[in-house]
Amino acid sequence: MFGVLKRNGIDRLSKALGSEKVNTSIVERKLYSYDATPIPVEREVPSAVVFPESKEDVQKLVEVCYEENIPIFARGAGSGLTGGAVPTSSKGVVVSFERMNRFEVNVDNTTATVQPGVVTYEFQQHVEKLGLFYPPDPSSFKYSTIGGNIAENAGGPRCLKYGVTREYVLGIEAVIKEGKTIRTGNPVIKDVAGYDITKLFVGSEGTLGLVSEATLKLIPKPPKRATALALFERLEDVGSAVTRIMTGGIFPSALEFMDRDAIRAVEDFKPVGLPRDVEALLLIEVDGSEGAVREQIKQIEDVLSSMGVKVKTAQSEEEAQKLWTARKNLGPALGNLKSGKINEDIVFPRIYLAEALPRLREIAKRYDLMMVIFGHIGDGNLHVNFLYDKANKEEEERAERAVDEVFELALSYHGSITGEHGVGLTKRKFLKWQFGETGYELLKGIKLLFDPKNLFNPGKVIEL
Ligand SMILES: Cc1cc2nc3c(=O)[nH]c(=O)nc-3n(C[C@H](O)[C@H](O)[C@H](O)COP(=O)(O)OP(=O)(O)OC[C@H]3O[C@@H](n4cnc5c(N)ncnc54)[C@H](O)[C@@H]3O)c2cc1C
Repeated sequence: MFGVLKRNGIDRLSKALGSEKVNTSIVERKLYSYDATPIPVEREVPSAVVFPESKEDVQKLVEVCYEENIPIFARGAGSGLTGGAVPTSSKGVVVSFERMNRFEVNVDNTTATVQPGVVTYEFQQHVEKLGLFYPPDPSSFKYSTIGGNIAENAGGPRCLKYGVTREYVLGIEAVIKEGKTIRTGNPVIKDVAGYDITKLFVGSEGTLGLVSEATLKLIPKPPKRATALALFERLEDVGSAVTRIMTGGIFPSALEFMDRDAIRAVEDFKPVGLPRDVEALLLIEVDGSEGAVREQIKQIEDVLSSMGVKVKTAQSEEEAQKLWTARKNLGPALGNLKSGKINEDIVFPRIYLAEALPRLREIAKRYDLMMVIFGHIGDGNLHVNFLYDKANKEEEERAERAVDEVFELALSYHGSITGEHGVGLTKRKFLKWQFGETGYELLKGIKLLFDPKNLFNPGKVIEL
């Protein structure tokens, strides 16, 4: 009986959209049942992969799925790290937005209308040629999509100065329960009419509906940038250096951190000449006019030298790019260290970093685990990685227990369990810790208002 129902639903989708947009081959279905999550997650092979090509297709597909009770798993590039795009029901369909990859820039209004499947890097390259700038720069920006970035409220190094994806989404068009289309926001900076549903949608991880279009804010492209590298003999000094920089009248466009093991891992992976004998480093980027950049670099050199920290400024764009490539290579570089990795992205208020960093190390020591820390330290967002041998179940369990302590530590300092990777499947338990009972009830209520049948990305973010 269920088989018949399922077939009918898929047949209806094929009829409504055209069979070339609904793929039921087992190869395709299996391929689209994964994302980049490094740990095993609950995962099912979907009954079809649907490729909408327009807003109208998105509307029609949700209408059919809602009538046929088919779970809907939205997917951008599948680069998510918390299982967000992974189907959790074999009844469901994966909706891949890769064919919705067009955009239009309104230069005079400094806004753009973007389909969800646009690759972030391609969009950024295009607007920069027009003298404009779209800052959100997750390390996955070369392949991740605007739709996935919106659903995860993605961030990256530049978000310290320029803010995360949410700051750049002025409006969205989305399809929610029963195939209803909602339009929120406008291509304007100021708009306080009603509740801010646009911002609510950003970071909703495909659980409220499908984003079928977005209006993005653009800003003028900063003319110059420069990068400095600071080298630390003592981990304890990093937090104070960050505070000194951020309170010293300097506003870096990026402030990134790598600990000793992170440095060694990238040097083993693709060497760029970073010193292997320091405890930590900071990569600091400033941008603006030529004069402002020169002045800020000088201030950074003065602040750090006065603390006894060694600092070097990249002498060319090529040298700076090399340093940033090392930072962006960290994800794959860690994969070479051990077969298993749990990568968390907790956040601490910046003032507690000096205290929290050594406490993170203590957790690793207590659980006898290899830990590598790097991240967007300027906004207190740290990627804490526990590395283990997959064949060693006991070590894997130890790593899972250590992660619980890492989250407890972040929450005890009024931080967050996730700064950018989202909750997805892997952090559901911890979301309850962060929101408490009443907050969690509100989340559930919001979810059911948009999706009373729990068909949009069921099982993700919250447990109903
Ligand atoms: C090497 C590496 C480095 C990374 N670095 C960063 C980083 O620096 N910062 C950061 O923030 N993240 C980072 N990530 C995580 C990931 O790339 C981001 O979360 C990214 O935003 C996901 O985009 P995507 O297109 O791959 O989306 P997917 O992974 O396909 O999907 C992510 C979520 O978005 C939902 N979704 C996708 N499209 C839509 C839509 N149209 N409507 C509704 N929901 C939708 C999915 O259901 C899912 O819940 C990194 C990942 C990797 C592999």
